Amino acid sequence: MNARNVLNADLHCHSVVSDGTLTPEALAERARRGGVELWALTDHDEIGGQHRAAAAAQAQGMGYLTGTEISVTFAGQTVHIVGLGFDPDDEQLKQGLARTRGGRAERAQEMAAGLAQVGIRGAYEGALQFVGNPDLISRTHFARFLVEAGVCQDTSEVFRRFLTEGKPGYVPHRWASLRDAVRWLTEAGGLAVIAHPARYKFTPTEEYALFTEFKAHGGRAVEVVTGSHTAQEAVKYADTAREFGLAASRGSDFHSPDESHTDLGALPYLPGGLKPVWELLEDRIR
Ligand code: AMP
Ligand code: MN
Ligand code: MN
Ligand code: MN
Repeated sequence: MNARNVLNADLHCHSVVSDGTLTPEALAERARRGGVELWALTDHDEIGGQHRAAAAAQAQGMGYLTGTEISVTFAGQTVHIVGLGFDPDDEQLKQGLARTRGGRAERAQEMAAGLAQVGIRGAYEGALQFVGNPDLISRTHFARFLVEAGVCQDTSEVFRRFLTEGKPGYVPHRWASLRDAVRWLTEAGGLAVIAHPARYKFTPTEEYALFTEFKAHGGRAVEVVTGSHTAQEAVKYADTAREFGLAASRGSDFHSPDESHTDLGALPYLPGGLKPVWELLEDRIR
């Protein structure tokens, strides 16, 4: 294993600017306590926390890469594309993200209507109580409300019973295209990473198409080590990274001390024989 693979980089997590429960400052402090050496805050479809996160990382003595996690629709499913190392003031990226966020309020109203049909009233207002950024109401906020209301024990149960395909609070949504997401990030001076690939329910053919098209659009990396992967899944996607000539990323996907299984910095190192994504971003580290 080479020394660069053993860097404690945590390049995926969420703050109150999207569906996390901690501020960028509290996350930076927690990351430093968790031994993180290089950090990125990757709020969903939002980069409003980037200047705060960069300043907080500097105050904690950690390296920082700008980050986001863009919601994309590919082959009828939602895929997440993490972006790293872009200019947080890039206009095209800011507008693209604003458009991607755009339908969330309406979608949330429809979700609440679906939940009302199974007897759960006031879910929209309830979810709003958990929202840190009014532009970014997500399923996670509904999940927190349903736990607080005593409908479910924990957020995983809410997703299983109410918020996934075929369940009463699920509303299909069209997000950004893969091509646009990769282009916005790349043209803003950053690079695109396929987030937690093991989470998608693609057939092998669809997954092959995802990686092939991602690469053709200029995508550069894949998350190999993440809080959403088992050890076997990390091995599988290390092979995929080598097969497609993609660099490898590492991130906890931390959301909340009460909900996340994997804390900031508490991940296995990248397997050897992979190109760490931070080697492609050395000149972007702050
Ligand atoms: P949205 O962007 O509104 O569709 O919400 C997606 C977010 O919901 C993800 O980023 C996760 O934070 C969360 N999520 C998705 N599936 C689950 C699950 N099965 N259990 C807990 N959280 C989930
Ligand atoms: Mn999330
Ligand atoms: Mn994700
Ligand atoms: Mn995430």
